[in-house]
Amino acid sequence: MENETQNTNESTVIQFCPKGNVLVVAEQSLGQIQPVTFELLGAGRILADKMEKELHCVILGYNLGDLPNQLIHYGADVVYVADDEALQYYRTLPYRRVLIDLLESLPEPPHTMLLGSSTTGRDLAPRIAAHFETGLTADCTELDIGPYEHKSKVDPSKLGLYPNCLYAIRPSFGESLKARILGPWKNPQMATTRPGVMIPLKPNSARSGKINSVKVNLDPADLRLVVSETVKEATSGLKLTEAEVIVSGGYGLGSKDGFEMLEELAACFNNSAIGASRKVVDLGWIPYQNQVGQTGKTVRPKLYIACGISGAIQHRVGMSKSNIIIAINKDIDAPIFKFAHQGIVGDIYQIVPELILQFKAMHSTSNLGGKSIVGSR
Ligand SMILES: Cc1cc2nc3c(=O)[nH]c(=O)nc-3n(C[C@H](O)[C@H](O)[C@H](O)COP(=O)(O)OP(=O)(O)OC[C@H]3O[C@@H](n4cnc5c(N)ncnc54)[C@H](O)[C@@H]3O)c2cc1C
Repeated sequence: MENETQNTNESTVIQFCPKGNVLVVAEQSLGQIQPVTFELLGAGRILADKMEKELHCVILGYNLGDLPNQLIHYGADVVYVADDEALQYYRTLPYRRVLIDLLESLPEPPHTMLLGSSTTGRDLAPRIAAHFETGLTADCTELDIGPYEHKSKVDPSKLGLYPNCLYAIRPSFGESLKARILGPWKNPQMATTRPGVMIPLKPNSARSGKINSVKVNLDPADLRLVVSETVKEATSGLKLTEAEVIVSGGYGLGSKDGFEMLEELAACFNNSAIGASRKVVDLGWIPYQNQVGQTGKTVRPKLYIACGISGAIQHRVGMSKSNIIIAINKDIDAPIFKFAHQGIVGDIYQIVPELILQFKAMHSTSNLGGKSIVGSR
């Protein structure tokens, strides 16, 4: 990898990977780009602009049609397309092989490489990082570019100022600290981000970019695993990550029957879904797909109503970016009241039925997700 060094009076400035760009690995399933890809393009665009580099994206699959253009509309300057029947469904080895071949064919590796912390991204990212013996920070909640000055005399060969480092930022130590993780000496600098955390750009169909097709050369050993059937997860109702209003239940419900009441409250709103804390998921009161938090989903609805949830940090990280959070809890000292925008102290079994009555009485189920009903912080 080519590095540029420049001596100033104060410190040697070392530009690692000066020509490398930012690369997003897109995810698609059954002909649809997954939302995390648009989020990564939004984050990647900011990083690329900050370094005055290009934003590249790679998509793998079969019969991809117009999907590469969509990636350009969402911010990519260049899209690499690997379109091959063997890539129709995600499989670790073929996807790994195509990505490694692509990266090795570039004149310089990407400066930064981003993947989603989805099932696919979590499987693929470490394999790419291991191959290139580079660092990978998983589950980031923020990304930035900034300088790092290495002053330690332990390894004098690395002394100097590195102007463009990826700051991969994520909660750590039981979510009590924000760690800024850097890996300035090797590229690509890699990170994964959780779905629902980064903000996508508004699509612009007037944006133009380059589409490059990628040669797919698979080894028979890469095709050992055969996908014989794909079964779509049976879900009822709206996906949690797409809901505008989430009514979420915790251990304060007392039993799984309490969710019936929450369903009734959720039905007062358009585009609503039911969420839950991990404690009640672990108790089997509601399926895992409803879990919000560190080990569940990250959500960002217009309105989040937390019923009988204490507000543990692991729950908070999954919902704190909601526009408006209303907490109902009988304990005035519950941690959730420290970050909820509106708090109601009392028994959910008295308050929720009253809310249902009031909302129903308003005879308007069309616009209850907005700030107008519940006020803002
Ligand atoms: C590695 C790790 C990962 C985790 N991941 C997650 C995660 O993804 N999501 C998550 O949610 N948790 C997660 N947890 C668990 C988390 O630490 C908490 O244990 C959990 O969020 C608590 O759930 P809860 O608020 O429902 O229950 P509790 O903490 O028991 O709170 C119940 C609340 O209900 C209130 N209450 C009781 N009765 C009533 C009533 N009648 N009316 C009104 N209020 C009432 C109580 O005052 C209390 O505040 C994780 C923990 C670890 C260690």
